[in-house]
Amino acid sequence: MKIKSIEAIRLSIPFDSDRPAATQETAWNAASPALRQMETLLVRVETDSGLVGWGEAFGHLSNPVTVEALRQLVIPCFLHKTAPSNREALAAMMAEAEKALHAFGRGGPVCFALSAIDIALWDLLGQQHGQPLWQLLGARRRQIGLYASLVSYNNQPEEVARQVKRAWQAGFHMLKLHETDYAAIAAARAALPEQATLMVDVNCPWPADEASRRARQLAELKLGWLEEPVWPPDDVAGLAAVRRAGTPIASGENACGVAGFTALFEGNAINVAQPSVAKVGGITALLAVIAQAQAHGVKVVPHCFYYGAGLLATAHIVASLPDDIRLEVPFIRFTPLLYPQLDFAPTLTLPDTPGLGFAPDPAVMQTYTVSHLRVDAEGTYYV
Ligand SMILES: [Mg+2]
Repeated sequence: MKIKSIEAIRLSIPFDSDRPAATQETAWNAASPALRQMETLLVRVETDSGLVGWGEAFGHLSNPVTVEALRQLVIPCFLHKTAPSNREALAAMMAEAEKALHAFGRGGPVCFALSAIDIALWDLLGQQHGQPLWQLLGARRRQIGLYASLVSYNNQPEEVARQVKRAWQAGFHMLKLHETDYAAIAAARAALPEQATLMVDVNCPWPADEASRRARQLAELKLGWLEEPVWPPDDVAGLAAVRRAGTPIASGENACGVAGFTALFEGNAINVAQPSVAKVGGITALLAVIAQAQAHGVKVVPHCFYYGAGLLATAHIVASLPDDIRLEVPFIRFTPLLYPQLDFAPTLTLPDTPGLGFAPDPAVMQTYTVSHLRVDAEGTYYV
């Protein structure tokens, strides 16, 4: 069974987050108040036997670069090759492409593009075996818990308090903020019942000494974790120092491949590892990170700020992790829904169709497509 065509489809779908209008014009962070639409980059791999596998690459404003990485570098490594029929062959295929392209970026758009292809190949693998991915990965449950990843409310304590109450009332008992000021974080803690688990993602703002000071101050709020407190994110010794301040540390969405996690584990830098399926190298790489984390006694809670095949891929993996591990979903409402599982509630039931079970609404796809590249025997062209 050969890979007949590979497509890269950029989508931009509107969402509602119930927050005041932003003053910024450019938003580099997915949690920014400036965003009213969310972009994603889907990859569609079709075989000559008619099977279709879906993948998703990180993300947002880097998508035009990732499309070029796919077009010029990554797709030629896979087109017309035999689709792997077992996980060893899939891992070998990915390792060969990663090695061939290693000089062009061990992280960033080349790695995002490889991640999307890997997810699509896993989708095809599940379909070849007639098994949903969660089953192929050894999970025994179809229903998983979700945690609400709130967008940023610009450190406004009253607004943050209002939003966490809204999330709690919607049934989310585990919530994550994207705020940096103590006052905003403390307001969230005060607004929530004691049994709520509150995490805080600060997105790499501080040098290690300032991050340690902030972590000591936050310790009294008993956070579930403090995420990415240190700039740069690969300052392993800095993260390990912050961890000693008493608040659990989560990191890894910006780690450079599996090797980036090896450094975090060996440096005793984190309590929670957050590999991101559409950045780190796909399902293959994420499974390698899970194996390492288990050997080091570190919990894995994958990063997920996706809404395409990447979200479902992460959901299938979460089903294979211990029952208390929840899937991260943005606390927003997509209008319209690309597929039914985007109607977020505190639990998600995984599809039981073979593979990922990603079934995007064709009308939504058509309406919100930004660009659509196709590569096949005819050549490379925009549809
Ligand atoms: Mg994060």
